Amino acid sequence: MDTADRAHAPVVVAIDGPSGSGKSTVSRAVAARLGLSFLDTGAMYRAMTWWMLANEVDVTDPEAVAIACGKPVIVSGTDADGPTITVDGQDVSGPIRGPEVTAQVSAVSAVPQVRARLVELQRGCAELAPRGIVAEGRDMGSVVFPEATAKIFLTASGTARSERRAAELRAKGVDEQTIAEMAADLDRRDAADSSRATAPLVQAPGAVLVDTSELTLQQVIDTVSDLVAQRAGHLIAA
Ligand code: C5P
Repeated sequence: MDTADRAHAPVVVAIDGPSGSGKSTVSRAVAARLGLSFLDTGAMYRAMTWWMLANEVDVTDPEAVAIACGKPVIVSGTDADGPTITVDGQDVSGPIRGPEVTAQVSAVSAVPQVRARLVELQRGCAELAPRGIVAEGRDMGSVVFPEATAKIFLTASGTARSERRAAELRAKGVDEQTIAEMAADLDRRDAADSSRATAPLVQAPGAVLVDTSELTLQQVIDTVSDLVAQRAGHLIAA
């Protein structure tokens, strides 16, 4: 794409990284600050998994998942001040964060037909975003939006990621054994997401690496907002 084409393309900020790198919080804050829409693509894979479990589809059978994955109507509301996710009209924002969905989502998201369906929905969300979109996940820069205006790969050391997650869970009153189980689950999910055949988690060509291990949340939001402004400031100025 040449510079003239890019000036007319919608602004897309692609943010990828492993679980616990702070992607969701940072992406949403950056979108709100820059007046862009926000898309949490992990929530879409979780919504698909929630529907499979609710409808007793065997999620360990990729063929069964591939056959069923065209059925649920998954809708993402992309307002950065209040993102929503529904399946067949039902708000699933709570249940998709539960342990059953979290334990099975990597298996469901490794099925190519699931990815093809959700990638199409994700591109549709970007096209409808009035000023542009910040989209976060695992394959935003590599597969879904290879021509993104700005690409960021957020990472953090394994220790920093599990400590952050543990602090979040402790604040919610979760017991220590469950916290340890969730840490093991996070490692298992990262390994699965990074090693799958279709759209594995990778730093996309052209993505800027931001290591958040030693940064506060505010510092990460500032760093990412500055990077986006450098690449796309002329397109998103009010
Ligand atoms: O971001 P979050 O941890 O909610 O994502 C849940 C799961 O969805 C990930 O572990 C991964 O298996 C899957 N996912 C994906 N591709 C994306 C976003 C999420 O495969 N773009």
